[in-house]
Amino acid sequence: MSPTSSPPTSLAHADFAPGFRGTVLRGGDAGFDAARVVFNGRTADTPPALIAGCVDEDDVTAALRYASARDLPVAVRGGGHGADGHAMPAGALVLDLSGMREITVDPRTRTVGAQAGAVLGELDAATQEYGLVVPSGTVTTTGIAGLTLGGGIGHLMRRFGATVDNLLACEMITVDGRKVRADEMENPDLFWALRGGGGNFGVVTAFEYRAHALGPGVVSGQIVFPGEQAAAVLSKLHAFMADAPRELGLGTTLTVAPPLPGMPEEVHGKPVLILIPCHTGPRGEAEEIIGRLTALGTPVLDTVGPTTWLKTNSMLDAVVPYGRRTTVRGGYLATLGEAVVNTLVERLAAVPNAPGTMSTINVWSLGGAISEDVGEDATAFSRKGASWLWECAPVWTERVHDASFDEWAEATRSALSPYTLPNAYTNLTQDMGEAWRRGVFGSAAKYRRLAEVKAVWDPRNLLRHNKNITPAAGE
Ligand SMILES: Cc1cc2nc3c(=O)[nH]c(=O)nc-3n(C[C@H](O)[C@H](O)[C@H](O)COP(=O)(O)OP(=O)(O)OC[C@H]3O[C@@H](n4cnc5c(N)ncnc54)[C@H](O)[C@@H]3O)c2cc1C
Repeated sequence: MSPTSSPPTSLAHADFAPGFRGTVLRGGDAGFDAARVVFNGRTADTPPALIAGCVDEDDVTAALRYASARDLPVAVRGGGHGADGHAMPAGALVLDLSGMREITVDPRTRTVGAQAGAVLGELDAATQEYGLVVPSGTVTTTGIAGLTLGGGIGHLMRRFGATVDNLLACEMITVDGRKVRADEMENPDLFWALRGGGGNFGVVTAFEYRAHALGPGVVSGQIVFPGEQAAAVLSKLHAFMADAPRELGLGTTLTVAPPLPGMPEEVHGKPVLILIPCHTGPRGEAEEIIGRLTALGTPVLDTVGPTTWLKTNSMLDAVVPYGRRTTVRGGYLATLGEAVVNTLVERLAAVPNAPGTMSTINVWSLGGAISEDVGEDATAFSRKGASWLWECAPVWTERVHDASFDEWAEATRSALSPYTLPNAYTNLTQDMGEAWRRGVFGSAAKYRRLAEVKAVWDPRNLLRHNKNITPAAGE
């Protein structure tokens, strides 16, 4: 039977998936438009066919059995932050897990269980109650599910590794509706693939993580340099971070300074470089090293100081509201040499100007735990050779500006391509096509292994609304 592309439009709610207890929404239903809002507002142009809001893993099982029996492709919505908008594709059957958000923390074993609809802010809040943290991403509304299945990077990656490096187990419902566990002992090949291979293999209903002691106090903030100093400061960062302790995380953002309270008026509307350090070690060491970081130029604003982990890991929320239009390109760099730095600065200068935009080129320092403590082949997530991650992420409001921001992002990718490694972090870029997908996990052997795992768990490729891994053909 050949797969159809959408659920039958005549389907009555009562007929959807026997036993399904959650909400079933389609076009015209009250709540449908609210349920289909995801981070990338471009998905609003083309609605899905049906959104099945799951309340528990039995609902996920019922919905997947329904889809599987009809050969229907299924899209999965976790936190809705996916750059490609695969959580809410046109005409699709969507399993919405945002109603499943329970988090339990065991301070004795330092382990955390979280349902797949939880978002990062909830994970941080629950773990900080016990002085613990699971390393994840930097914006509180991002879903734990998509982030974890792709890899998971953030302020703590140099100290504690990627999110997948701290993943102990997944509970998953297979496309034909069986509940399985994946960890180092049980279904280890699946567990390997789930740590970086994305939502290709089944619908994960819960994650189990290792947590670390942290906070509540950390030292963080933003150091803003005027655009004229950007190249000079950026070009000193590679040497600086090569000697930096793991306790120092560093993000950098090239952007046009928004007229926000606190941002000095002299740079409003002008290019700036913002350094975003987060130090999680002893206070004295933080002051010393961040003092040296600040002295790399003459900042117009420096907000770095003692604060809490919860404030640190939500400080970027304000600049990335839900529902705006976006596109993302990204990749890894081995170094931040002069040619790369000049390219970054030139690309910021070419950013389109439109109302309601917040376009950034972000560059994150890897190194430390994420680069050194886990072997390249130990997880599907690739980090081989990467010292830095760049990400070009324009955000705008009007559809009429789609083409100019797409062109800017694509031209930025093209300009950086001579320096960008073939492997990449799949979550912080759009899908760049079949050839890219074969290289993005770091080697042909890793892609082949992923395709083999895909063939075992989703041979009909019902989970194809993602950075899709084609099931390996049988012998
Ligand atoms: C503003 C913003 C900030 C970000 N910051 C960071 C960051 O600091 N660090 C970082 O690592 N990443 C970051 N990201 C990228 C983020 O990790 C990815 O967008 C990720 O896919 C988000 O997961 P989600 O659950 O919110 O997204 P969704 O769009 O809901 O899901 C993305 C994809 O994951 C799969 N998926 C989701 N849930 C499941 C599930 N339960 N089972 C199986 N498959 C599933 C599906 O294929 C889905 O299409 C950021 C993204 C945005 C938009």
